[in-house]
Amino acid sequence: MNDVVLTGDRPTGRLHLGHYFGSLANRVKLQHEYPMYVLIADYQVITDRDLPGQIQRNITDLLLDYLAVGLDPAKVTIFQHSAIPELNQLLLPFLSLVSVAELRRNPTVKDEIAHSSQQAVSGLMFTYPVHQAADILFCKGTLVPVGKDQLPHVEVTRLVARRFNERYAEVFPIPEAMLGEQPLLKGLDGGKMSKSRGNAIELAATEDETAALIRKARTDAMRLITYETHRPEVANLLTLASLCLDRPPQDIADEIGDGGAAALKRLVTEAVNEFLRPIRQRRGEHTEADVRQILAAGNERARERAIRTLDEVREAMGF
Ligand code: ATP
Ligand code: MG
Repeated sequence: MNDVVLTGDRPTGRLHLGHYFGSLANRVKLQHEYPMYVLIADYQVITDRDLPGQIQRNITDLLLDYLAVGLDPAKVTIFQHSAIPELNQLLLPFLSLVSVAELRRNPTVKDEIAHSSQQAVSGLMFTYPVHQAADILFCKGTLVPVGKDQLPHVEVTRLVARRFNERYAEVFPIPEAMLGEQPLLKGLDGGKMSKSRGNAIELAATEDETAALIRKARTDAMRLITYETHRPEVANLLTLASLCLDRPPQDIADEIGDGGAAALKRLVTEAVNEFLRPIRQRRGEHTEADVRQILAAGNERARERAIRTLDEVREAMGF
């Protein structure tokens, strides 16, 4: 089978190290091997908040981050949800394929409701995983490089594809999630590193900002640095260094020995800053005008693809 890669992000803020090791690193690799679509999930911003915020600014920043990590717009179709009305048309038949009970059970939706800033949980919060099914299936995506929080959503997509094929006609491939090297990177507060939770090391952060963030991270009182599950704060910092240095966390712990939290933080700061240096450098190479052009071209390509799939869906359904 010829694989097609689809993945995406919400334009809610700058990308962080969790994105990099959860999904971006795989994208950069896979873009040379397969056709790839990267979705800017702008409508998804209003799943857990009432207003989209600085949406244009965030979309521009997201694109600049993509270019900085090495996504190549000549290879990858980068597009935004709101520019492809066919995605919303696919949503309707897809919604008819899942039950309310299935929507309610989704553990990621439950977690996001717990962190939501909305007064009341909206219908969109429950249905956006089905919207994601449309995002993945419109281009007949088969490989979805994502972090662990997305696994329940990819499961919904698989369900939708299977049920559509059974009920109407064999239209969709059944996609697979592809987890990154670190499927759930924790933030500096111990929870999932998230753009919207103030606990992230952003790819665009300066060296000083990065140092300040790591300085504030919690550790424990033991001077001897070890990599153990019962020391989650220390283990998390060691994991960060390990990912950036591409070395086992135990080795790094041994090297620090009884240097304590200060030595640990110094090492982590250097490792992260060293890792981010080429990314920071590449960010400066692109302008906002480049970004607008890349998005316009991507939107056009994605729309053509979506129109073809929607035609197939209508035909399969007898409309
Ligand atoms: P928000 O807080 O606004 O939801 P986010 O940090 O969760 O932002 P998303 O845009 O929701 O980012 O997710 C984009 C992609 O990055 C998804 O594939 C998701 O699984 C992955 N991802 C996000 N956070 C992490 C993390 N901490 N570790 C690994 N992967 C992550
Ligand atoms: Mg998220």
